[in-house]
Amino acid sequence: MNLADTELVMGILQNKGYSLTNEITEANVILLNTCSIRDNAEQRIYGRLGNLKKYKEGKQSAVIGILGCMAERLRKNLIEDKKMVDLVVGPDEYRRLPEFLDGAFAGEKGIGVKLSRTETYDDIIPFREEGLSAWLSVMRGCDKFCTYCVVPFTRGRERSRSLESIIPEIKLLSERGFKDVTLLGQNVNSYNDNGKDFADLLAACAAVDRDIRFRFSTSHPQDMSDKLLYTIAENDNLCNYIHLPVQSGSNRILELMNRTYTIEHYYELIDKARKIIPGVSFSTDIISGFSTETYEDHIATLDVMMKVRYDGAYMFKYSPREGTKAFNMEDDIDEETKSKRLSEIIDLQQKISFEINQEMIGNVEKILIEGDSKKSNEFLAGRTDTNKIVIIPKLHGIKIGDYLKVKINRATSGTLFGDLI
Ligand code: SAH
Ligand code: SF4
Repeated sequence: MNLADTELVMGILQNKGYSLTNEITEANVILLNTCSIRDNAEQRIYGRLGNLKKYKEGKQSAVIGILGCMAERLRKNLIEDKKMVDLVVGPDEYRRLPEFLDGAFAGEKGIGVKLSRTETYDDIIPFREEGLSAWLSVMRGCDKFCTYCVVPFTRGRERSRSLESIIPEIKLLSERGFKDVTLLGQNVNSYNDNGKDFADLLAACAAVDRDIRFRFSTSHPQDMSDKLLYTIAENDNLCNYIHLPVQSGSNRILELMNRTYTIEHYYELIDKARKIIPGVSFSTDIISGFSTETYEDHIATLDVMMKVRYDGAYMFKYSPREGTKAFNMEDDIDEETKSKRLSEIIDLQQKISFEINQEMIGNVEKILIEGDSKKSNEFLAGRTDTNKIVIIPKLHGIKIGDYLKVKINRATSGTLFGDLI
């Protein structure tokens, strides 16, 4: 989401004549796009700000600004406490950035942190480097109010971009040769443009260019409709891959988190998706050590992982966020227990990913070639429909962006290896 927002900001600034530099020593403006989701994301930014001091104090004297959720959350504090920050601009005020920058060059401090009910940046084309993969935000904000989560407070109410603005942007991506587009939103499947839902949007995107693969992130279990599952099944270029955060396996914890589903409901959804979309794979998000989580609750989470067998997972320790409902609950799981539970969760996921990948040996997969393998330029890396990296020997005539059929012959927990067939 932040990568996509950074491209949006670069689009806005480029329209005003700014350009990018790869040399920080040449920069007149340095903007940090920040995340508030967990405390460690914020701590990292404080570290980065400390490192940037030298660009402020020396001859260079660049304008330094904080964008994103930390700007929204900490507002004035950032300008007052961190004297070197010239502007603080939240996620719904990026249109005003050029104005704030003019002010900053004239020595004024700028704060733009109003949240909007309507801003979707519909008309702004993000700045994208050449490549195969692109992000495309289709909605902003979140109305779910999970009790641990700061997003509804930092990114505001849920709103969708118009379908009419998205389709031309997909056409542009198609003309520029992009082959892998991820539609983004905090709850992408609650997309609603005057009655046109996320399934309608996906079907419309898929029809623009059948050579582009479409992915989407993130889906909330509550909004996973049958229509959406059938739409994925019916369109070859909609990837058979669903990121479906479960957060916990315990109904008691799910209720405390205000996740609005029970684990039984979640299982039904997974079963239904597997029936409607043969071969579909899942990934998830898990929070370990939420308030009052008992050992039994933790075991229930491990149990879901074993039952669903996710291809991958993003796994976090619970981090209390000021302003959220859970901030008033006691953060009663000590650090050591949180760490121990989290490492059990990570170890189990590694084992499951390894087993799933081993089972793929012998399969034939269609992969999109993305470029040289990270480790050797004698090998190429491609990606399956289900988002797995496959390494194949480099052969004459294979180009980036080709779709190829390969047979998988070896696997680790993170990577598949194959040969062209
Ligand atoms: N809207 C998406 C993603 C939200 S943020 C969704 O609901 O799935 C990505 C992930 O960060 C969440 O799924 C959750 O697992 C994690 N997360 C959010 N708040 C957190 C917190 N306070 N502590 C730890 N993890 C958190
Ligand atoms: Fe946060 Fe829940 Fe909204 Fe996801 S659905 S952004 S976890 S409040």
